[in-house]
Amino acid sequence: MNKVKCLIIGSGPAGYTAAIYASRANLQPVLIEGPQLGGQLMTTTEVENFPGYPEGVEPFQMMDDMKRQAERFGTQFVSGIVTKVDFSESPKKVWVEDTEEYAADAVIIATGASAKYLGIESERTYRGRGVSACATCDGFFYRKKTVAVVGGGDTACEEANYLAGLCEKVYMIVRKPYLRASEIMQQRVLNNPKIEVLFEHNTLQLTGETKVEGADLVYRKGEADEEMRHIAIDGFFLAIGHHPNTDLFAEYLKRDAEGYILVDGDSPRTNVPGVFAAGDCADPHYRQAIVAAGSGAKAAIEADKYIKSL
Ligand code: NDP
Repeated sequence: MNKVKCLIIGSGPAGYTAAIYASRANLQPVLIEGPQLGGQLMTTTEVENFPGYPEGVEPFQMMDDMKRQAERFGTQFVSGIVTKVDFSESPKKVWVEDTEEYAADAVIIATGASAKYLGIESERTYRGRGVSACATCDGFFYRKKTVAVVGGGDTACEEANYLAGLCEKVYMIVRKPYLRASEIMQQRVLNNPKIEVLFEHNTLQLTGETKVEGADLVYRKGEADEEMRHIAIDGFFLAIGHHPNTDLFAEYLKRDAEGYILVDGDSPRTNVPGVFAAGDCADPHYRQAIVAAGSGAKAAIEADKYIKSL
């Protein structure tokens, strides 16, 4: 068993920032990297809205910068996936790949969230080449172009409105004959002349030589008047929800109906003393790297306070 003061789970902006702060506080943190080194940000093409990079930065570069900064102050990195935890007593137990066991005074969970995808083959083919799950991150690359947003909830409406401010035209691909979003969001979408809502449409596949150039849709699938349609688009934005990566902690931590970890006010404290949550795993609203990084800093500061109180 490895005994550590502070264990951090996740290698996105929240996890790395927590590591920078925790290592500078001499907590000698161990960071378990998880399935996607660098986190969700690695699925985007360029980061232009993280302060400190006036020319923008490639996600790999930015995450590597953060990692090296944490490394410089002594963070130890472990590649692997956390498969089991036991927060029933202190120190908290965390298992990596079921075999390696850690006992930690404080645990910072920064496991992020995963955007839901439709599950069609071409989504994978064009990921980062026209397929995105974050309009705020990638919308700028589609200025004056035509894009489609999939989904009919608040996120989809928000993303469609945001993209309409940048793009020539925005299609919304909605599988039902109505939008699920709140009334005010619906009105914004329906009153925006740049947005065309395609109700009762499902996406069959994306087309294009090396990047997204179009989408094959089916209108009223399975009905007598079912019809195939094609739209020409440059970008395809998924907005069909996110799933926080928190199932592993369900036995011990309070979560909301969607699975986001519940924290105490705007602190990173969970219902288990010594366990903190940072970044998108506890944030259904902002989903931004800079916000996640800030919450990672808060989690490390709280972890330090907690450890000193033991
Ligand atoms: P929602 O679950 O509310 O909506 C998801 C949308 O995606 C629905 O229209 C759903 O269709 C559609 N969808 C799901 N799966 C598929 C699929 N396989 N194919 C096609 N369409 C699909 O998620 P959101 O991310 O929009 O919102 C999550 C929560 O966050 C909500 O409570 C929302 O109100 C809240 N939120 C609030 C905001 C605000 O207040 N400003 C902003 C953003 C989110 P269907 O309706 O047919 O199920």
